[in-house]
Amino acid sequence: MAVRYSYLRQQFANCPELWDQLRTFVSTGDFTLGKPLQEFERNFSSLMTVPYSVGVNSGTDAIKIALKALGVNPGDEVITAANTFVATVGAINEIGAIPVFVDVDETFCMNVDLIESAITSRTRAIVPVHFTGYMTKMDRVMEIAKKYGLVVVEDACQAILAEWKGEKSGTWGDAAAFSLHPLKNLNVWSDGGMIVTKSKELDSRLRLLRNHGLADRDHVVELGFNSRLDTFQAVVGNWLIPQAVDISEKRIANAKKLDQGFLEIPQIRIPERPKDMRVVYHLYIVYAEKRDQLLNYCVSKGVEAKIHYPIPIYRQQALTSLVKDLVFPETDYQARNIISFPCDQHLSSAEISEIVQTVGDFYREESNAS
Ligand SMILES: *Cc1c(COP(=O)(O)O)cnc(C)c1O
Repeated sequence: MAVRYSYLRQQFANCPELWDQLRTFVSTGDFTLGKPLQEFERNFSSLMTVPYSVGVNSGTDAIKIALKALGVNPGDEVITAANTFVATVGAINEIGAIPVFVDVDETFCMNVDLIESAITSRTRAIVPVHFTGYMTKMDRVMEIAKKYGLVVVEDACQAILAEWKGEKSGTWGDAAAFSLHPLKNLNVWSDGGMIVTKSKELDSRLRLLRNHGLADRDHVVELGFNSRLDTFQAVVGNWLIPQAVDISEKRIANAKKLDQGFLEIPQIRIPERPKDMRVVYHLYIVYAEKRDQLLNYCVSKGVEAKIHYPIPIYRQQALTSLVKDLVFPETDYQARNIISFPCDQHLSSAEISEIVQTVGDFYREESNAS
């Protein structure tokens, strides 16, 4: 039995009521900053339990615009995790700021004990990345930010509805960025992003910056960006948002089943599952012996495992002049030993058993061969 990684063909295979809503919407012509976008921003705020949500055209722009709105300037240093998707670093770079990396801990997020040693007189912000659906230990991040007078933008693009100590991702920092990209847990049909904040002033500035700095049709208050969330995508978002909690619960349940299966396989090590953390498993990752052979074996059997990521961002060619000879051992260890399996809300119990069975078969065949 093959187990696919992407569930996108299943997710929107049967949604006649969404097609009806889209047809009605198109006939209104309300395409930019339209009414469904305002509705989606309200719906997103209540889902996240924050007062303000601003739709932008990607998760990358959400990070970039939040940093700019919080006063991060060209030449300022921004601390972030050494293991993240390129977008975090791209967003920091786009406003002329300088990314400064901190190694991760075994839960794939920034090791908060290493932040202070990365702070210099030029540090202006911290962008913790809640990578894979785990959360950065945000109480500690906020303590450090307060002590050094830094602003914090959470990169929560992979962690919608994750929690640390009972508080949701996105509710800790000065602002937080979410992505609505098709491959994220709450996904629309194109690029899309959301910024959340508790500050009314920041909300106003974010709204200006995402729409060219236009206070109204005729007045440009400061130069900004063209980065509005498409109202068409907001219609999709409004249809999806009532399913968001259920999606996260299904992923958590699937991760539990995979964990139970993998507990029987000594060559697989399950990362710490901290008690105080609600992990939402945007990615389901374990540590594996003979990782590369296991990956090839799984793929040859039709079980689409992946590596997130084989080359850590800080070791990418584009960053060599920035990083110089720094080394982040935990990030490097993960790049060599991690493997991701499907864990999404559309995965069946039979598919979960197939994943565990295939991994078990690999190690059984290995030990017979030696
Ligand atoms: C997806 C992602 C982003 C950017 O989101 P886009 O909507 O694709 O621009 C940023 N950070 C992380 C960690 C992501 O996974």
